[in-house]
Amino acid sequence: MALIEVENLKKSFGKQEILKSITFSVDRKEVVAIIGPSGSGKSTLLRSLIYLEEIDDGSICIDGAYLAKNGHYPKQDDIRNITGKMGMVFQHFNLFPHLTVKENLVLAPKLRKTESMVDIEKRCMDLLGKVGLSDKANAYPSNLSGGQKQRVAIARALMLNPQILLFDEPTSALDPELTGEVLKVMKDLAEEHMTMIVVTHEMGFAREVANRVIFMDGGEIIEENEPTQFFLHPQHERTKAFLNKNW
Ligand code: ADP
Ligand code: MG
Repeated sequence: MALIEVENLKKSFGKQEILKSITFSVDRKEVVAIIGPSGSGKSTLLRSLIYLEEIDDGSICIDGAYLAKNGHYPKQDDIRNITGKMGMVFQHFNLFPHLTVKENLVLAPKLRKTESMVDIEKRCMDLLGKVGLSDKANAYPSNLSGGQKQRVAIARALMLNPQILLFDEPTSALDPELTGEVLKVMKDLAEEHMTMIVVTHEMGFAREVANRVIFMDGGEIIEENEPTQFFLHPQHERTKAFLNKNW
């Protein structure tokens, strides 16, 4: 069984159908890149996986447990247990501006109350080391560059030891010279076999790091393939048109 299984997922905002029967799965250790034009439903799909949006119909199964089954959700405790297996990184970092880097990282594990503060702080410093920001533990987000903020956001997402990381255009808000340092951290995670879904415009990253590329347009998955085939031999006209414009 795949780690993430999505079947016939449907989501509307008002009368507008945003996701039209989406079906896909992600295996353990897989890195899946989702690409597609603005407004195609990529963010809504990612947000649905972690219950930032409620879907209308279809199923989402994470590590064998249903977050949603035929549009129905389990009780809050079960939802929390399932979404707790995932971390998410947003385009605009979403760090707490009034907290230091370290405070941003320790907040969620501290609230969960399942570990000692010593263990939490140790993991915090380990993760800051991993993203190359050991010296920024006591800095505030406003004193960091965009690339540093996003690396903090990745470290924060890792604090709860997720099995799955979701990225929603993690480099789209960054100056071009800062995207590399964030992509490098993501590439390291992929090499450590973290399961990842990455919505991105970075075609180079999708081609080099992803195991599979999914192209979405108009709330549907139009095409998916392993990266070499996907970029060299796109099958669908809409995929070809998108790649011609964006790559
Ligand atoms: P993408 O991430 O591919 O750009 P989104 O998932 O953000 O696409 O949006 C898909 C469509 O859903 C867009 O038309 C957008 O305007 C609409 N949409 C997204 N969120 C909401 C919302 N909270 N309320 C109403 N419409 C929304
Ligand atoms: Mg989006």
